[in-house]
Amino acid sequence: MAEPIRKIIIAGGGTAGWMSAAALKAGLGNTVDILLIESEDIGIIGVGEATIPTMRVFNEHIGVNEAEFIRATEATFKLGIEFRNWGHVGNRYFHPFGDYGAMHEGLAAHQIWRKLNAAGDDTPLEAYSLATQMAYAGKFFPPNPDPRSPMHDYSYAFHFDASLYAKFLRAHCEARGVRRRNAKISGVNLNSETGHIDSLTLDDDSVEAADFFIDCTGFRALLICGALKAGYTDWSDYLPVDRAWAMPTGKSVEFSPYTRSTAHAAGWQWRIPLQHRTGNGHVYSSRFMDDETARTVLLDNLDATPLKDPMLIRFTTGHRNRFWEKNCICVGLSSGFLEPLESTSINFIQLGIIRLLELFPSKEIDPFLRDEYNARTLDAYEKVRDFIVLHYRLNSRDEPLWRYCADMPIPEDLAYKMELYRRRGEVILRKYDHFAEPSWVSIYNGQGMIADAYDPLADRVPTDTLRELMQKRRETIGQIVAQLPRHAEFIAKHCPSENFMKTA
Ligand code: FAD
Repeated sequence: MAEPIRKIIIAGGGTAGWMSAAALKAGLGNTVDILLIESEDIGIIGVGEATIPTMRVFNEHIGVNEAEFIRATEATFKLGIEFRNWGHVGNRYFHPFGDYGAMHEGLAAHQIWRKLNAAGDDTPLEAYSLATQMAYAGKFFPPNPDPRSPMHDYSYAFHFDASLYAKFLRAHCEARGVRRRNAKISGVNLNSETGHIDSLTLDDDSVEAADFFIDCTGFRALLICGALKAGYTDWSDYLPVDRAWAMPTGKSVEFSPYTRSTAHAAGWQWRIPLQHRTGNGHVYSSRFMDDETARTVLLDNLDATPLKDPMLIRFTTGHRNRFWEKNCICVGLSSGFLEPLESTSINFIQLGIIRLLELFPSKEIDPFLRDEYNARTLDAYEKVRDFIVLHYRLNSRDEPLWRYCADMPIPEDLAYKMELYRRRGEVILRKYDHFAEPSWVSIYNGQGMIADAYDPLADRVPTDTLRELMQKRRETIGQIVAQLPRHAEFIAKHCPSENFMKTA
């Protein structure tokens, strides 16, 4: 009988550390002793404010009340991302968490739209997305779980303050028995026979031993890279941004239920409204813009008063070669970073820890399970990478970064997917593809790649029938959006933080 794991140490107390602790506690209960070690002197990165809808599944899994979480983390609702100046200067489109309408006689809504478009109808595809229209109108209401409701086919995520989220999860975990030490890890002690991690030495010379370790030490990757030498694959040829200036500003007048991403000459800028302030950052490639110019770009494009000086963050897009090595996995920034364009990092934390629970080892570590974990994680990274690369690839902008992206070699599978869409509007999804068909359609269409042809099956249905169907959907969307509360009104009624009330 294999010996079970009795104690786990989580190194690091940022978003990754505390999410790991919460998920392990929810999954393993009291069968395993969990100790989290973090250093308040080092602190956390403190950026990472936008999420995707899977975050709600995570909160449910760990037993967090949504309204409580929203109040505690100054969170707001996110219906998707507005892209400005992506593709070409002056362009604007939306990536919604929702679709463009139900299938009709086996036809996807975007195929019906393409047929009408070919027949001369210039209604934009976005007109058929409830999430997009709600977002543009600055409104918010949660979807109806009943699939027959016209309010069913969208979802939402959150914007939140990452530092407050770590604090919130810490209280949640400690109340459930997770132990915490505030200390700096000064040494990682390996077993001379197996190469496994035996223990960590802390800066007060105490030693903490465990059976399994989770490296959540952020970009430092102290255990998985520093001690276990798991290596790193650099993807900056595909994703050339490598720096960000980040800074908070006061609350903006525009309180949008979405993230805004505005492309600039050598990168892009995020704008994330929270209940008490707005998060901003300029992500750029140092190959194409110097730090000082990038800082000025950020400062010149704010819509509220700065609360702090900008903070410079350096990173290399890519991933750890082995996410699980010996008796250690890495979760969070220690496992890799693909840049924040589609807000996928926190989702990778969630996937990493849930995957560990699915393949949970005994003390002996089955190499088969470890390899499966590594293969699934790499697959997920590659799928998200390709989706992000698509945003850079499809552009006709004239600055050097954008010209580079328009010509750079792209992953073979992405090239194949793009070709299929170009020919027939067909979206192909593979195992572990994270973004669903409407997400891909929104980027293709939004950045100007309109399919050459539509699905010929659409010709089985008379054009007038399809026109009527889509017209009806537009009318329904218009009626729904007109009745919904504004984002700020919804928050004020259901989940305001103390700061929100003060600044409302
Ligand atoms: P950190 O927050 O850096 O935490 C590391 C922890 O390790 C800290 O507690 C630190 O004290 C501890 N530590 C380190 N060394 C030691 C030591 N020697 N001893 C003891 N403790 C130690 N993600 C999203 O999902 N959405 C976004 O919008 C988004 N935006 C981002 C923007 C930028 C510019 C960047 C760089 C990242 C962004 N991310 C985003 C990613 C997100 O910030 C991270 O995934 C998330 O914060 C997790 O970070 P972490 O916990 O891995 O690392």
